[in-house]
Amino acid sequence: MSTPRLEIDLKKIAHNLKTLIAIYGAKGVSISAVTKVVCGNVSIAKLLLEGGITTLADSKIDNLKKMADGGLRCQFLLLGPPMLSEAEMVVKYADISLNSEISVIRELSESAIRQRLIHKIILMVEYGDLREGIMPDDLENIVEQVLQLKGIKLIGIGTNLACFGGVQPDQENMGLLSNLSTVIEKKFNVNFQFVSGGNSANYQWLSNVNDSGRINNLRIGESIFLGCETLKREQIPGLFTDAFTLVSEVTELKSKPSMPYGIMGQNALGKIPEFYDNGIGSRAILGMGHQDVPCSGLSPELKITILGGSSDHMIINPQESGLKVGSEVRFNLTYAALLSAMTSPYVTKVNT
Ligand SMILES: *Cc1c(COP(=O)(O)O)cnc(C)c1O
Repeated sequence: MSTPRLEIDLKKIAHNLKTLIAIYGAKGVSISAVTKVVCGNVSIAKLLLEGGITTLADSKIDNLKKMADGGLRCQFLLLGPPMLSEAEMVVKYADISLNSEISVIRELSESAIRQRLIHKIILMVEYGDLREGIMPDDLENIVEQVLQLKGIKLIGIGTNLACFGGVQPDQENMGLLSNLSTVIEKKFNVNFQFVSGGNSANYQWLSNVNDSGRINNLRIGESIFLGCETLKREQIPGLFTDAFTLVSEVTELKSKPSMPYGIMGQNALGKIPEFYDNGIGSRAILGMGHQDVPCSGLSPELKITILGGSSDHMIINPQESGLKVGSEVRFNLTYAALLSAMTSPYVTKVNT
């Protein structure tokens, strides 16, 4: 089989999903499955729907379109904030979007009227992570304007933490979101279907509380695919962390000095690397590089050491692994590495 290839174990993903639905379901929290790390891969998304998911969420309209064109029928949610210039496409391909800018919501409203559709929105509220979100004190004012727009239905509020700032979801910020939803509902006499409290980083918080307040939804990607929470990247008990495996091939294997020789300048990636002299030793080249995956996000299944890489090559110390030219070398991936491998057209995807 060709390399580099990403082997995708659909059974392990299905198991992770089932376990998470049970854990969160027991707390009255539904899961919207986030497909961006798998680029809206249709066979994976199909599996998520078969596992009981009713809302698929992605940050790219292209991925939502890919899943719809692949024959999948469900509620499609666009993670936001959407681009002003894309309003027409947002309304066409997303049933729901996450929003924080009134000018964009006005444009969505006009597009929805033109397309004779009702576009649902969730307003995102800032609770300290400093990516998207309306400042809590400004929310009432925005809600008042949104409720006057035709073609737009406000179905909830939400927040997103642990993305830019690394701020943890806790009883404090989740409690504030919860209370805010009640205040807004009362004041405007509306009923929120979604109070969407966050992402895979909400695992610890939710595991430790008996009552999650009004929070009734999370948007989950990484936990489903890599089996971990995302504050410390610890495995969630009972989940698989190795549903994805990247396989590459040895293209050169030789005994060489460990110190480069000649006059030194920058390497392929613009860095001046440092080396330590460990004498002459075995080293191998693998036929994949930064164009496929960042080598910093890989952990090998064999006992070998990654020395570095360039655009299409990775250099390893094969140690006592017994590799030969043509041998396959298998790696587990971090979220960043999985994102990159899924996105690279040079990495073949194989369902196992
Ligand atoms: C990516 C994303 C998620 C999912 O995050 P995971 O860490 O993969 O669970 C949830 N919400 C928003 C707004 C996102 O952009």
